[in-house]
Amino acid sequence: MRYAIPPPAMPSLPVLGSDARFPVRRIFCIGRNFADHAREMGAAVDREQPMFFCKPADAVVSDGADVPYPSATGELHHEVEMVVALSGGGRDIGTDAAESLIFGYGVGLDLTRRDLQAQAKAKGHPWDVAKAFDHSAPVSALRPAERGRPGPQTRLALTVNGELRQQAVLGSMVHDVPAIIAALSKLFELRSGDLVFTGTPAGVAALRRGDRFHAELEDIATLDGRIA
Ligand code: MN
Repeated sequence: MRYAIPPPAMPSLPVLGSDARFPVRRIFCIGRNFADHAREMGAAVDREQPMFFCKPADAVVSDGADVPYPSATGELHHEVEMVVALSGGGRDIGTDAAESLIFGYGVGLDLTRRDLQAQAKAKGHPWDVAKAFDHSAPVSALRPAERGRPGPQTRLALTVNGELRQQAVLGSMVHDVPAIIAALSKLFELRSGDLVFTGTPAGVAALRRGDRFHAELEDIATLDGRIA
């Protein structure tokens, strides 16, 4: 294969305990997956049909790297989320088969231009400019599933400048991971290299230049970075 221009680099994430990296194909995100966050946004949880949106693969930012403050917003918000990385995929995946497609787990921030999201909601516009901007997806190194899986009691937390902003246990998710994978696979053919952001609990708030964040998925992964 010869390309007319040099092909762009494949976005990737480090893997804990390995020098091999995980190549990122697509990033899927579920919205409104914790009732307390849906409530703080003035939205309702839909227990039947999850709500999804996407970010581009090259929005990933690796652990420890600076995140540039995005253009065109005065209200950059953090949303701490468990991230699931897939080593397999398919269409119409059953909840029983979903676990076997998981490569590993990490923790990430679904960074959001909240002011632009509010405008989009008011006008009935798509969310892309609010959610899918450059550097909008900082993600930790991934822990392979055979080296530890999170459970319903696993704690998800975010501190900013040492102050606790968000925390929850995964058992309070509205749609669990198999249900998310099953629902997504009815809308998109999932493939190896896909990442799934699984939703944020209450406590979303603004990040400012110079803020240092520390996200943690208990016993699984941590993510540190700074808004530059
Ligand atoms: Mn989110």
